[in-house]
Amino acid sequence: MGRFLVTLAAATAVVACSVATMVVRRRMKGRRKWRKVVGILKDLEEACETPLGRLRQMVDAIAVEMQAGLVSEGGSKLKMLLTFVDDLPNGCERGTYYALHLGGSYFRIIRVHLGGQRSTLEVQDIERHSIPTTLMNSTSEVLFDFLASSLQMFIEKEGNMFNLAQPVKRELAFTFSFPVKQTSLSSGVLIKWTKGFAISEMAGEDIAECLQGALNKRGLDIRVAALVNDTVGALSFGHFHDPDTIAAVVFGTGSNACYLERTDAIIKCQNPRTTSGSMVVNMEWGNFWSSRLPRTSYDIELDAESMNSNDMGFEKMIGGMYLGDIVRRVILRMSQESDIFGPISSILSTPFILRTNSVSAMHEDDTPELLEVARILKDLGVSEVPLKVRKLVVKICDVVTRRAARLAAAGIAGILKKVGRDGSGGGRRSDKQIMRRTVVAVEGGLYLNYRMFREYMDEALRDVLGEDVAQHVVVKAMEDGSSIGSALLLASSQSVQTIQSV
Ligand code: ADP
Ligand code: MG
Repeated sequence: MGRFLVTLAAATAVVACSVATMVVRRRMKGRRKWRKVVGILKDLEEACETPLGRLRQMVDAIAVEMQAGLVSEGGSKLKMLLTFVDDLPNGCERGTYYALHLGGSYFRIIRVHLGGQRSTLEVQDIERHSIPTTLMNSTSEVLFDFLASSLQMFIEKEGNMFNLAQPVKRELAFTFSFPVKQTSLSSGVLIKWTKGFAISEMAGEDIAECLQGALNKRGLDIRVAALVNDTVGALSFGHFHDPDTIAAVVFGTGSNACYLERTDAIIKCQNPRTTSGSMVVNMEWGNFWSSRLPRTSYDIELDAESMNSNDMGFEKMIGGMYLGDIVRRVILRMSQESDIFGPISSILSTPFILRTNSVSAMHEDDTPELLEVARILKDLGVSEVPLKVRKLVVKICDVVTRRAARLAAAGIAGILKKVGRDGSGGGRRSDKQIMRRTVVAVEGGLYLNYRMFREYMDEALRDVLGEDVAQHVVVKAMEDGSSIGSALLLASSQSVQTIQSV
């Protein structure tokens, strides 16, 4: 009996030992995996670093590239396109005008009425719709007929609201968020599609003519009287409300900027034919590139797999279309190299499945258990991850968005530098007398809806400019500014009122 007890005790001890060893091994394995994902996060943080010194290099590089793009055609990755806009709206415009805005994700139709004073601007109707993804890869005919039919429905809803005996001739601004080489205020040819659009055989086509043709086919008496880049629309809207507005930036599906430049600085254009001595330049800054940009392996993969690889490098780091996909790629890498996200989810492997809206929802999740993060991960096929893994995901969102916002701020500071409003040019920084108030209009769903992006951008702009200069720079958010501003620009370019509404 005694021997039996001894044997039993020994056997129990052996079992207990091996269980303990297994637990310790599992814990060690778990710790190794955790260390691995922490390592991936650390690498990401290092690769995305944007210390002030680097931001200042970006500011200089952008100002230099702007200059190069103004000197000669093809002199820079920044196209610095002429817009033929020299006079911006000032509040005195009158009449009723329409705008149709094709963005990267949405199209909008608006009608505005202007009564000759700022305070009498009335946005009478505004419609906003998602662009069906099938349209983005369709044909020119399909795309423009879709836009024309949407406009037709918009107009039909008006009935006879203008109460006119004569048929109404409507004037439309076409706000177009893709690179166009303008030939006049009302015409221009597509240079290339960007963001999610890829309609072949359209480069070189006159965009205003395409829309006009589609409207004519439907028998609509509407004249496409202006072709306006979305940034130029936003600048027009900003200037209408505040004449100190000299630049506009869009942070939406993609990103771009425009600003008011002296015509004598636009060396590549011999005869700019402006009366005001300045012209709005559409930078097409999404294509900015510098070897000093903090690029990661995820950016390189995203670019290689994109429809426009080796193109739009800056946009792919700051545009709303891309931030979600960068975050997705980091999570996927972590899930491939450890099992902290459970079995590899096929959903997570799908490009662009994680939208930037979800990134901001996770980033700004203020529930103690990070329930929003858990919900979004579940949609990606990743369920029941512990809190510490959810915190890791929030950190990834933070790193990717902070980099984007700080680079965006460097872009704005680059424009201010180019036009001598960054305090480094015409005088001593401390001399407040010579610093002029400068307003930058900002538009786009990313900036308007993602608080952390906004806060990081504003903070970086203050850091890079310094407090003395930053206090003279106002960043003004303006919802639907691109669309409304395009209608205002059209109004200011026309002296006669086209529609007399009652
Ligand atoms: P468009 O680019 O068509 O002109 P917007 O300016 O409205 O449209 O921008 C839409 C983009 O803004 C979306 O594709 C998305 O990337 C981004 N966005 C919209 N809402 C949010 C949000 N809540 N958080 C983060 N990004 C957002
Ligand atoms: Mg937009």
